[in-house]
Amino acid sequence: MIPPQFDYISPQTLPEALTLLGNNPDAKVLAGGHSLIPMLKFRLATPTLLVDIGRLAGLSYIREEDGWLKIGALTVESAIDKSSLIHSKYPLLSDAARMIADPIVRNKATVGGNLAHADPANDHPAVMLAYGAEIVVTGVAGPKTIPITEFFVGPFTPAISHAELLTEIRIPAHKPGDGGSYIKIERKVGDYATAGVAVQLHVTADGTCDKIGLALTNLGLTPIHCVAAMAALTGTKLTDADLKHAVALAAEVAEPQDDYRGTEEYKRSLVRTITTRAIKAALVRAKA
Ligand SMILES: Cc1cc2nc3c(=O)[nH]c(=O)nc-3n(C[C@H](O)[C@H](O)[C@H](O)COP(=O)(O)OP(=O)(O)OC[C@H]3O[C@@H](n4cnc5c(N)ncnc54)[C@H](O)[C@@H]3O)c2cc1C
Repeated sequence: MIPPQFDYISPQTLPEALTLLGNNPDAKVLAGGHSLIPMLKFRLATPTLLVDIGRLAGLSYIREEDGWLKIGALTVESAIDKSSLIHSKYPLLSDAARMIADPIVRNKATVGGNLAHADPANDHPAVMLAYGAEIVVTGVAGPKTIPITEFFVGPFTPAISHAELLTEIRIPAHKPGDGGSYIKIERKVGDYATAGVAVQLHVTADGTCDKIGLALTNLGLTPIHCVAAMAALTGTKLTDADLKHAVALAAEVAEPQDDYRGTEEYKRSLVRTITTRAIKAALVRAKA
């Protein structure tokens, strides 16, 4: 379908973009456009103005600083995929970026857009929940930091007002004993997840898991944070018995629905299988 008519503007600076957004409550932010343009074409979004932030300088970077891995909102998926820093120290993120869509989409789609879209089928929301990330949102008054647990207010509803921009994602910096893994079952390469699971954990020298983050993709109306399973695994040695108990808790908290990707029962059984596999893969990486 052809999108409805809209005005288009491409600001050059962050303050200019924020002023435009503040003055135009019906405007929509355009980043890579790989979620927004389809929504315009289906007329699920009908903004009067598109504010294209793609030319804003200084919002595309990947760096470790002050105990965080900091990622600029306009960083594209292919930059994550090509980053040796991310490959070597943040395998959960690297696993996920490699499985998002296809190379053409990954060259344009931004990490900030993936999170700001707050689509439960997108892969970064669960990844960032598992990491315990923080999201930096900037308005005319300056930046503020939002814990990822407070960021997904509802389906397609992030904690960003119309006059604000997501500007940075912060992931706790890697430390020895950290390991992560993302496993996604998809119908074909490049598809959204039938079910996905993100695991990030830390093990002590004696092999005890003292911290774990666990979250699910496309198994509810928002990404699912598996808090009970995380609590059950914390302080354990991640034995088969520990895992069996915890993955049952993860499957319980999932809210899958029957659709063309599978039945509710099938998806819940996938949660048990892929969560077990992802925890085992993360553990191997943590001990490596
Ligand atoms: C064929 C195809 C397959 C795909 N497969 C996957 C997949 O497997 N997994 C997956 O996770 N994603 C997938 N996607 C989605 C793709 O990754 C998204 O386009 C991307 O995640 C959104 O980023 P974007 O830069 O394109 O955002 P846009 O489409 O430009 O924006 C998306 C939304 O976020 C808002 N927004 C964007 N940036 C900001 C910001 N900095 N601050 C505030 N609001 C902002 C926009 O206003 C809009 O509402 C797929 C897309 C396509 C077209």
